Amino acid sequence: MNSLRILDTTLREGEQTPSVCFPGHVRTAIADELDRIGIDIIEAGHPVVTQEIRSSVSSIAQRGLNATIGAHARSLETDVDLALECGVGFLGVFYCVSDWRLNHLDRSLSSAIDRIAWVIDYAKNRRPNLVLRYTPEDTVRSPFSNAVSAAEAAVQAGADIISVADTTGHMIPGGERSMYDMVSRLREALSQRGCEPEIAVHCHNDRGLAVANALDGIRAGASIVDVTVLGLGERAGLTDLASLLAVLAADFGYGERWQLAQLPKLYRLVSRYAGIPIPANQPVTGSNAFSHCAGVHTQAALANPLHYQSLDPSLVGRSAEIALDHMSGLASVCHALESIEGRSDLELAQQVLVEVKRIGQSGRTVDLDELQLIVNSIELPEQSAPRGLGRTECASVSSTR
Ligand SMILES: [Zn+2]
Repeated sequence: MNSLRILDTTLREGEQTPSVCFPGHVRTAIADELDRIGIDIIEAGHPVVTQEIRSSVSSIAQRGLNATIGAHARSLETDVDLALECGVGFLGVFYCVSDWRLNHLDRSLSSAIDRIAWVIDYAKNRRPNLVLRYTPEDTVRSPFSNAVSAAEAAVQAGADIISVADTTGHMIPGGERSMYDMVSRLREALSQRGCEPEIAVHCHNDRGLAVANALDGIRAGASIVDVTVLGLGERAGLTDLASLLAVLAADFGYGERWQLAQLPKLYRLVSRYAGIPIPANQPVTGSNAFSHCAGVHTQAALANPLHYQSLDPSLVGRSAEIALDHMSGLASVCHALESIEGRSDLELAQQVLVEVKRIGQSGRTVDLDELQLIVNSIELPEQSAPRGLGRTECASVSSTR
């Protein structure tokens, strides 16, 4: 597991999200943030798409980042030439191997394999130290023997990495279509042919299973995983970067590997310029990801956060929060009052709770600024001066909600 590398393709696959097009300075900023987090490979774009992408890939490649900078190319000489002229150290080429796609292109499998081997040989001859990945497009729905034959030819031509692409989010963990089985079988079949490439997995999220399938691939020996910020990408997108890294750090022994506290900043940046809000309930990076709301939950979480959270928010530089709305109880309000007033007056808390529930029923939460306004509206100025005198502290009853 220690050789695992993360390939972020926000700047390539992420821009395949409808209407997403990052300007050059933002593309550079995203690459810098990914590098700060410790991402191993940044797929910076498909240079043939536009002149702007071409110059952005080139400038990111010259930036001296720790990450390896990569580009994407069809199995065409022109695409390879443009990518290599950008100065990238990593190139991903793809070509389909399924019978239906080949029929559509009026190509035989053998001529497709010839094309794949030719383009890899060409790229490697032009740049011998290039790290080259070949992707049999829609690997998992293609006939297995086709994928193996193409991968074998690719490795023999010089490919370092074979990517197992779940192009349509077809795979399901634990079933007949598991990524674990697919990666295991492919590694075994290639090994029997004397080929030991690195295996990458590219998991689309059409069924909401991209993170689970990526973990399944890792478990079977894949050493590169493709991700994007916010899971951007075609249709329902790809494996979400933050969700995957949080699980790997918390549960798979990668705690110190990445600077996860930088993730919220990266997500805000990408969200803003992609024009796609971060869903409030997005794992790890959503505004509600570490918020406790219901009275029973907050009361228990205030005593011990582990009662109602299995992922430590400090892992990604965040802290647990209490949301105040109609679901709140006295413990939540007392806690919030302590944080703004330095005290928790039971009688005041009971009056505030009535207001909080009233506002919550209109579909809003009460933040600390509004809480202060509620306190001010309840208390006359002269009441708030002698704190604690003749009043009951919340602490004596907060455990009873
Ligand atoms: Zn894709």
